[in-house]
Amino acid sequence: RALAELLCELTGAEDACIVNNNAAAVLLMLAALGAGKEVIVSRGELVEIGGAFRIPDVMRQAGCQLVEVGTTNRTHLRDYLDAVGEQTALLMKVHTSNYQIEGFTKAVDAAELAQASTLPVIVDLGSGSLIDLSHYGLPKEPMPQEALAAGASLVSFSGDKLPGGPQAGIIVGKKSLIAALQKHPLKRALRADKMTLAALDATLRLYLHPEKLAQRLPTLRLLTRQASDINEQAQRLRPALETRYGDEFQIDVMPCLSQIGSGSLPVDRLPGAALTFTPRDGRGSRLEALAARWRRLPVPVIGRVGDGRLWLDLRCLEDEAGLMEMLLQ
Ligand SMILES: *Cc1c(COP(=O)(O)O)cnc(C)c1O
Repeated sequence: RALAELLCELTGAEDACIVNNNAAAVLLMLAALGAGKEVIVSRGELVEIGGAFRIPDVMRQAGCQLVEVGTTNRTHLRDYLDAVGEQTALLMKVHTSNYQIEGFTKAVDAAELAQASTLPVIVDLGSGSLIDLSHYGLPKEPMPQEALAAGASLVSFSGDKLPGGPQAGIIVGKKSLIAALQKHPLKRALRADKMTLAALDATLRLYLHPEKLAQRLPTLRLLTRQASDINEQAQRLRPALETRYGDEFQIDVMPCLSQIGSGSLPVDRLPGAALTFTPRDGRGSRLEALAARWRRLPVPVIGRVGDGRLWLDLRCLEDEAGLMEMLLQ
């Protein structure tokens, strides 16, 4: 209850429900509100996120009949409305969290759907960001509070993607619909455990103090690191590594682009800096041997091989002393 109240405060929702992960959240919403009925989704939003989570398969598992509308690149409001019939239970929007359709495109947002129909509109946001990332100089990801304000009935998102908390599935929205989820037999099977709830509570409380968030929430702290700061860190670490590895490898500080991953911001890259190790004799086997040796360290150090170098992207390096202890032994 305490967590639900916190989520309501942060998102403006009437009520909230927490399960194990967002895949479970989507399954529960569909099973509780759409089983035996039709659910309308745009063709452009039939997402596969990896593992076996694919929207058409989850629909089937939940006992819903998927009704695809529109085309891969363009879906119009009339496509949804033409497909609504007596059997329709829900209109569903799925955030294309790991790909982007570009060019001649059209999508209908939750606000338009909510205005045009009395059916519940459910939104799978994937990685809902609880803050406006553009205020931090980052590309924006959709926010659950915005989807609710636009008229979505339920919005689901992961606790462990951009929110930066433990693995969890969060559903926020209308009280009557949340009550239907809480009563469904799957809820017990999908519920989150106490440790998850405790960690989620601790994470969400940080959001009550937005002015300190970029400092206190590790996900945001690392996403907002400036390239100049990472570059300075790389320059600082280079001399000691040069002494240790310089005979065999040329060590450079190189600009690099970091992928955010975790089902968010699929086409954006964050500029940063990396330490790179290039074998002086140009032999790829030396590179592989170095990478393998570092992976076997008591605390494995895992780089990325590309362009004939081993790259250590330092964006997420906070324990500098720990890294150096491993690499210099
Ligand atoms: C990541 C994601 C999910 C699944 O969330 P998990 O918390 O990883 O189970 C579902 N839908 C979308 C659109 C996603 O991006």
